[in-house]
Amino acid sequence: MTLERRREVLGRVKTLVVKVGTNVLSTDDDRLDADRIASLAEQLHRICQSGCKLVLVSSGAIGAGMGLLGLKERPKDLSHLQAAAATGQAHLIHIYDKAFRPYGYHAAQLLLTANDFKGRGRYLNVRNTLRTLAEYSVIPIINENDSVSTAEIKLGDNDRLAAMVAGLIQADLLIILSVVDGLLTGDPTNPASERIPLVEKFDDNLLNLVGASKSTRGTGGMGTKLEAVRTATAVGVNVMIANGKRPNVLDELLSAADVGTLFLGEGDGVSAWKRWIGYTLPPKGRLVLDAGARRAVEQQGKSLLAIGVVRVEGEFAKGEVVSLVDQSGEEFARGLTNYDSSTAGSIVGKRTDEITRELGSIPYDEVIHRDNLVVTSQK
Ligand code: GLU
Repeated sequence: MTLERRREVLGRVKTLVVKVGTNVLSTDDDRLDADRIASLAEQLHRICQSGCKLVLVSSGAIGAGMGLLGLKERPKDLSHLQAAAATGQAHLIHIYDKAFRPYGYHAAQLLLTANDFKGRGRYLNVRNTLRTLAEYSVIPIINENDSVSTAEIKLGDNDRLAAMVAGLIQADLLIILSVVDGLLTGDPTNPASERIPLVEKFDDNLLNLVGASKSTRGTGGMGTKLEAVRTATAVGVNVMIANGKRPNVLDELLSAADVGTLFLGEGDGVSAWKRWIGYTLPPKGRLVLDAGARRAVEQQGKSLLAIGVVRVEGEFAKGEVVSLVDQSGEEFARGLTNYDSSTAGSIVGKRTDEITRELGSIPYDEVIHRDNLVVTSQK
């Protein structure tokens, strides 16, 4: 039953986030394990070849920086941590880039802070950047921007960051690679503890299973992993925790082998995201559309282009929710706008070439991309 469920969930993964922890990537003497990274790259290449979109969230910058700067222990003060992160991050991306090159990919680096998930404009920026990167043969590799993040804006651990990224891009699956085999029934040091293969519904009692376990080099532990699982499953993302030191672990996971712990997401990701856009946030303004644009959005699932907009009403910023109405004022959809109200107002009814002339460049082809659009009418 458990394996069948796995096969069913893993068989339909189209968008995947893989988070790799510091301990998976480090050798015993605090260097980055280039062989491990090469093996992960080879497996990730196979995953991409199967048509799956991939985002990597990788720790390891501070650990690698410690090795490079000759620091024997993890620094306690912020400025030395930041120095280690800045030094290690360059090295980390370099090694990934080298590992992905034989398969024809470049590594693309994104360094994020908690603020990038707060303001709607920035949230949408990250989403748009990742979507655009998916058009190319690149592997986006995300880490927290440790070298500038101060305590107030710190996400703190990459388990959390990965869960937020997975929610942001509506991933079908988040794989957290750590040095544990999955969620165990008891303390990892107790030989009687067994791996739990499947958790159908996240329950806060699971947190009691793990106590205060902590990673030696990174910042996470099983507790932060379970918090991340809670965040991701709540927005519909399935999560797998598995041991990244197993050879070919990703191949095993995606062929539904009995390794790791699979936590099922609640509902499905698309509906959670659409609920969020469509019903959680109050719209800030309105875009009045002509009949052709209404049909394209409502019936053909198309993005909204400026040429179909007749009028802009109200004031809103880029990334806010706006209401899409027809000329009689009836609302039929909502979406996150790529343009603020004054820019949108200056391009209504215009074609792409006219927009370029008006604005000097064309930041986005669509006023609202179809991924960020929800039809709210019942038709
Ligand atoms: N951002 C940190 C690094 O790259 C890792 C944070 C974590 O261990 O979760 O070293």
